[in-house]
Amino acid sequence: MKSAQSIAETRRLGLCLVISAPSGAGKSTLVERLCKKFPHFAYSISCTTRAPRGGERQGEQYHFLTREEFLARREAGYFAEWAEVHGNLYGTPRVPVEELLADGRDVLFDIDVQGALQLKGTFPQGLFVFILPPSLPELERRLRGRGTDSEEDIARRLGNALGELRQAGRFDYLIVNDDLVEAADELCAVYVAGRARTPNRPGLLDALLSQWGA
Ligand code: 5GP
Repeated sequence: MKSAQSIAETRRLGLCLVISAPSGAGKSTLVERLCKKFPHFAYSISCTTRAPRGGERQGEQYHFLTREEFLARREAGYFAEWAEVHGNLYGTPRVPVEELLADGRDVLFDIDVQGALQLKGTFPQGLFVFILPPSLPELERRLRGRGTDSEEDIARRLGNALGELRQAGRFDYLIVNDDLVEAADELCAVYVAGRARTPNRPGLLDALLSQWGA
């Protein structure tokens, strides 16, 4: 007689949830809402060559590196993906993510489109979500409304947005951030559904069948 294993005890693999969006689409707010509802997420802390902004601390929001340090790590294969975004280098350290996933933790990535598509090669079982603005004029309005970017920056970000939108079809999910509450609900729904995917639950069916002695 096989010992009965509780279904709840069966191993669940950690999930990669990768979220990308054009600058100004509201990704940070949606990520905040997701994490408020699911505080158990592990967050992948990236390396960057950009300078810390007010309130940002080394190793909390980012690992801040010089360009030389970043390039040396990149050559050593330290990054699961990397990209140049708005003139700075950004990269995801590979080993911490692999360790978190092996430990069954769900890992959230807030990274740009080029990086997300590289990660798709490394973690094909991940959930890749693209956040869309409701329209180009609305994106422009939001970028201006932030009051943080120069005219030149805004023009560059809008230009980049077009290139990013052209890549959006390669993501698994598209969420239009028109109504914030609805968009946050959709993002949460994608995550909840992703957790239940069959490849995420190795051993679940075996555990159940073994209770039947099958
Ligand atoms: P910020 O400098 O405003 O924090 O981020 C600028 C952009 O870089 C955002 O779109 C953010 O998602 C992206 N980013 C942050 N970390 C990474 C990373 O590790 N890899 C890539 N490819 N993009 C990143």
